[in-house]
Amino acid sequence: MKANYHTHTYRCLHASNVADELYVKEAINAGFDILAFTDHVPYPWIRYPEEHQDRMSYSEMDEYLQMIYTLKKRYQDKINILSGFEIEYYPEYKDHYQRLRKKSDILILGQHNRYPLIHDYGVYNNDNDVFIYATQICDAIATGFVDILAHPDYFMLGRSAFNDACIKASHMIAHQAALYDIPLEINLNGLRYGKKLIDHQEVYPYPCRDFWQIAKQYDCKAVYGYDAHDPSTLSQSWRIDEVNRVLAGLDIKIIDKLGR
Ligand SMILES: [Zn+2]
Ligand SMILES: [Zn+2]
Repeated sequence: MKANYHTHTYRCLHASNVADELYVKEAINAGFDILAFTDHVPYPWIRYPEEHQDRMSYSEMDEYLQMIYTLKKRYQDKINILSGFEIEYYPEYKDHYQRLRKKSDILILGQHNRYPLIHDYGVYNNDNDVFIYATQICDAIATGFVDILAHPDYFMLGRSAFNDACIKASHMIAHQAALYDIPLEINLNGLRYGKKLIDHQEVYPYPCRDFWQIAKQYDCKAVYGYDAHDPSTLSQSWRIDEVNRVLAGLDIKIIDKLGR
């Protein structure tokens, strides 16, 4: 069983401008059994996506879901196509996420911003921000509508040291994920940022070995996530070799199939 639950489309405006069907064809060629489209979630008030350059507008949502459904039918003999979204969690949008949960197959949580579309944790976060990051993730998991926690170690993109605040945040996240049995994603696209200096060592910002060492203590389950913004990503198996080198010896429990 080979699955990818993290796939974007041209609608987010920072993925390749190609047809959705090319992701499906690439996935079939690469031997995937399951492919979930989980493009960045739209919000009802986003009417001008070109201002943000990072997600579809609300008016494109029905066409997006319809297109996935069409592909699901067209390729049902070859691959299981799922629909979904990558959300950030803000309690004021709880109803919105719940509606999306009913309209689609899965929701993955990628907590990129502290506020809706503002303050990217990947650009900068201080000790208080990383605590808020972990709190938002724990709250999201507690709602019960999150299927996978995407790049749980995303906050390290905005930091230069894995300090006590990071340790505490990692324990909060891992504890909650284990408690609710939510798999953590080993993101295969953090590599695109290249290596950077963290604690005076040249490493990828994520996956972050220090985070996963803590996740291992809680026996968290993990899934690989290609976080594809271009179809070709799906056939680049060297990404798995590279993250496995980062996480060598930790013996993380990898799963392919989601529980529900
Ligand atoms: Zn993206
Ligand atoms: Zn993503």
